[in-house]
Amino acid sequence: MIETPPMATEGESLEIAGRKLGGSSFAIIAGPCAVESREQLLETATAVHDAGATLLRGGAYKPRTSPYAFQGLGQEGLRLLAEAKAQTGLPVVTEVLDPRDLEHVLEVADVIQIGSRNMHNYALLAEAGRCGAPVLLKRGLSSTIDELLMASEYILREGNEAVILCERGIRTFETAYRFTLDLAAVPVLKERTQLPVIVDPSHAAGRRELVTPLSLAAAAVGADGLLVEVHPRPDDAVCDGPQSLATADFAGYVERVQAAAAVAGKTLSSARPLAEMAG
Ligand code: PEP
Ligand code: MN
Repeated sequence: MIETPPMATEGESLEIAGRKLGGSSFAIIAGPCAVESREQLLETATAVHDAGATLLRGGAYKPRTSPYAFQGLGQEGLRLLAEAKAQTGLPVVTEVLDPRDLEHVLEVADVIQIGSRNMHNYALLAEAGRCGAPVLLKRGLSSTIDELLMASEYILREGNEAVILCERGIRTFETAYRFTLDLAAVPVLKERTQLPVIVDPSHAAGRRELVTPLSLAAAAVGADGLLVEVHPRPDDAVCDGPQSLATADFAGYVERVQAAAAVAGKTLSSARPLAEMAG
């Protein structure tokens, strides 16, 4: 008989406003790239909640390549995220770019996101380590797994153990998609740390046709969750429309991801009671 090697031991799960992430719990963190308007955010938040998402994502402060591109609604965006959270009950994940904004961000965020471009911003990492909230840390777009783990240490050493690592695609010579999604990073990170590991298929893909297949693969390879961009009208999105799933397609997406997560022994931790979802 051929012996199958043991799977890496499961990490501990984190609890975020009553929702579990990690261990045997799979999280879907969904929402727009950027908070654009009250209508856009509330429409998205309601749709992702009803489809069974675990947390709501949405950027109020956007790290843009061009300083002339939309930079996010800032404090107005945070206010809208608070309204979406009050309306749906979904905990909120949002990015912080500048430690000076942390105080305001923490008034609404249940999880603060440190984006790819800031993975090496050690002052911001240390502040996040002292902020008392869970931190979603994205892999730098040209960073090694070692560098990601070292960046996470800047948060952990301040006493904050609630860190979620996120693989979001890295730069390679390939140009057929936006970034190369490094799915091998998932089991490798799980060998090296007990921290939950999630995957962002949206920024890696750059186009929505690839988001579902990459999400299914990420769930099957043992990721603890997905960070995925969703918009009610992706063609009108201010940023990252081409890679955003439409809210109308989101319930079908969640169903397929749930089945793939089950292959890896994980159950979707939904903001909606399971009984309600079955109905
Ligand atoms: C995002 O998730 O909104 C984002 C900007 O992603 P990244 O930092 O991975 O580019
Ligand atoms: Mn985006």
